Amino acid sequence: MSGVGAILRDLVFPRRCVICHRLLERTEPRLCPACAAVLGDPVSGARRGAYYRRWAAALWYEGAVRESFHRYKFGGCRFYAKTYGPLLANAIEKQLGVRYDLMTFIPINALRRRRRGFDQTLLLAQEAGRVLGLTPVSTLKKRRRRPQSRVVSAEERQRNIRGAFWVPNPALVQGKRILLIDDVLTTGATVSEASRVLLAAGAKAVDVAAFAAAVS
Ligand SMILES: [Zn+2]
Repeated sequence: MSGVGAILRDLVFPRRCVICHRLLERTEPRLCPACAAVLGDPVSGARRGAYYRRWAAALWYEGAVRESFHRYKFGGCRFYAKTYGPLLANAIEKQLGVRYDLMTFIPINALRRRRRGFDQTLLLAQEAGRVLGLTPVSTLKKRRRRPQSRVVSAEERQRNIRGAFWVPNPALVQGKRILLIDDVLTTGATVSEASRVLLAAGAKAVDVAAFAAAVS
């Protein structure tokens, strides 16, 4: 961003820590030292029965992290991606290693993207990819479904998500080791279904990385 652009942005959004929202001096990093110290190491694991091998996330999705993410997704703070991206890249490097043929991402539907003005997951993938030397490629399309929020149980969510995605161009994924990016991991049902269709389209393996993971 240019000098003038940065000054205008600081007028609209006074410089605050992206996580705790504390006002910062102009020279301080947007992730304040106190937050950087308590957030700790990235997290990872494997889920039994999922179609992906492993998952990793930069942070747990709780408290100030959750509030921060809401400002990013709904509150006009899309520039948070510049801070989130390197955190996500660090989680990928430390927990998964970078040995992928392709980076892709969970899509949002076109209507939602128009309303929100941006695709929060693609932007995260781009910023993490900048650090890792990977460019996110669109491989998945989303079918129109009833909203997930109306669905209650984990089993119901898993059933409802079945068939939510398709791969328009299987040649893009065939034989590839894929890094699949999502914004927040909750039950893992969405990324597991996306991994299933990527594998069905010929992908060799899928790992998942997200900015944050809900405690489960
Ligand atoms: Zn902070």
